[in-house]
Amino acid sequence: MNPFATAQAQLDEAASHLKLDPSTHDFLRWPMREYWVRVPVRMDDGKVKTFQAFRVQYNDARGPAKGGIRWHPEETIDTVRALAAWMTWKTAIADIPLGGAKGGIVCDPKHMSLGEKERLARGYIRQISNVVGPDRDVPAPDVYTDPQIMAWMMDEYEAINGKSQAGMITGKPLSVGGVAGRDDATARGGMYTLRECANALNINLKDATAVIQGYGNAGQHAHRLLEELFGTKVIAVSDSKGGIINPNGLDFCEVSSFKTETGSVVGFPGSKPLTNDEILETECTVLLPSALENVITADNAGKVKAKISAELANGPMTPEADKILFERGIYVIPDFLCNAGGVTVSWMEQVQNAGHDKWSRPFVYEKLDKIMTDAFYGVHEIREKKRLHTRLAGYVVAIQRVAEACHVRGWV
Ligand code: GLU
Repeated sequence: MNPFATAQAQLDEAASHLKLDPSTHDFLRWPMREYWVRVPVRMDDGKVKTFQAFRVQYNDARGPAKGGIRWHPEETIDTVRALAAWMTWKTAIADIPLGGAKGGIVCDPKHMSLGEKERLARGYIRQISNVVGPDRDVPAPDVYTDPQIMAWMMDEYEAINGKSQAGMITGKPLSVGGVAGRDDATARGGMYTLRECANALNINLKDATAVIQGYGNAGQHAHRLLEELFGTKVIAVSDSKGGIINPNGLDFCEVSSFKTETGSVVGFPGSKPLTNDEILETECTVLLPSALENVITADNAGKVKAKISAELANGPMTPEADKILFERGIYVIPDFLCNAGGVTVSWMEQVQNAGHDKWSRPFVYEKLDKIMTDAFYGVHEIREKKRLHTRLAGYVVAIQRVAEACHVRGWV
C-alpha cells in the first residue's frame, strides 16, 4: 500500500465533493518541492556509510512549510510525500499560519550509537541547510527522532549560518529554546479532541475503556493523560514487539517503567499477550492507533469494536477502511485533526523563539485547548451538516483554506 496514493485518493474524493476547479486540484495533488540527499556518515567502526534522505515541502501558501523528520529503515519518498501532504492539511485544520513539509532518513536508529546519530543529524542538516530556516521550512521530531536530535540539528544550522536561529527547528530541549508542553502536545491535543467528541456523542469518558496501539511518545503520553484527565481505564497497549491486555486496567506508571526497564510492554506482570492485529479488534470505547501507517484496512475494518477511533498516528487507515468505519457508526477523529496538537505547540515554540520569549505550561495548554476545540467543531459541524465521514469533512475544511491562500497569491 503506497501512502502517497492514499493521500492523493483522499484529496481526489474531497476535490470532487467540493467541485474544486481542475487547476487547483492538479496543483494540490503533488508537492511543490522535494529534495533527495545522500548523507555520508563515519560510523564507529571507521567505515563511511551513506544514508538516503529526503525533505519534501508540500505547500507553503499559508506560511513557512512545517513538519517532522522521521528516521525509519523503511522510509520511502512516497511515505514522506504523504506525510508532507497531511501536514499541509493539518496546519490548515488547526488554522495556524504554516504550510506542510516532512523529512525522512532511511536508517535504523535502534542499531546506531549516540555518536553515529549525532553525525547523521548534523550531516542531514548540512545537506538541506540552504532550503530550511525559520521563515522557510521548519523541521520537528517525528517517529524515532527526539529533542536531542533537534538540538544537534539546530546547533549545526547555527554553526553554518553564524548566528542564533532557534526558530529553525521545533521540539527542542527547554535549555535551548524549546517550549514548555511540546513533550506531550500530540497526545494532549488528541485528548482535547476526544473530550469534545465524547461530549458530542454523550459518552462519559470516566466509564470508558481505551486501547492504545503503539507505545512511543504519543501512545505513552496518551496512556498517562487518559488516566489523569478523564479517569479512563486503559485495558490494552502494544508496541512493535507485541501487545498486552488486562480487562481490569493497566496502570500507566507501572507499564511505562516496565517498558523502560525491559524495552517492551510484552511480558508485563498480570497481563495476557495480544498480537498487534488482535489489539485493533479489541472491544473498547476508544481505540487509539498511535504507531505507523496503514494498520486499519478493508481487511480488518469490519472487526474494529470501538465507538471512537482517535488517530494519534499519521495515516493509520486506508480510504476503504474510512468508509467501512463510517457505515458501522464508528466515529473516527482523523489523524490531521487528532494529532494536530504537536504541530500547534511547535508553532507556539516558533512564535516564542521569534520574540525571544519564554512561555509557561499553563499558557501553552490553554492556547492548545482553544485551538483543538475550535478545530474539532470546525470539522464536526461539516461532518454532521453534510453527512460525510470525518476525514472527508476535515479535507473539506483544509482544502478550502489552502486553496484560498493559493488563489489570493495568484498561483492558481
Ligand atoms: N511530526 C509531528 C506531526 O506529524 C509534528 C510536526 C511539527 O511539530 O512540526 O504532526
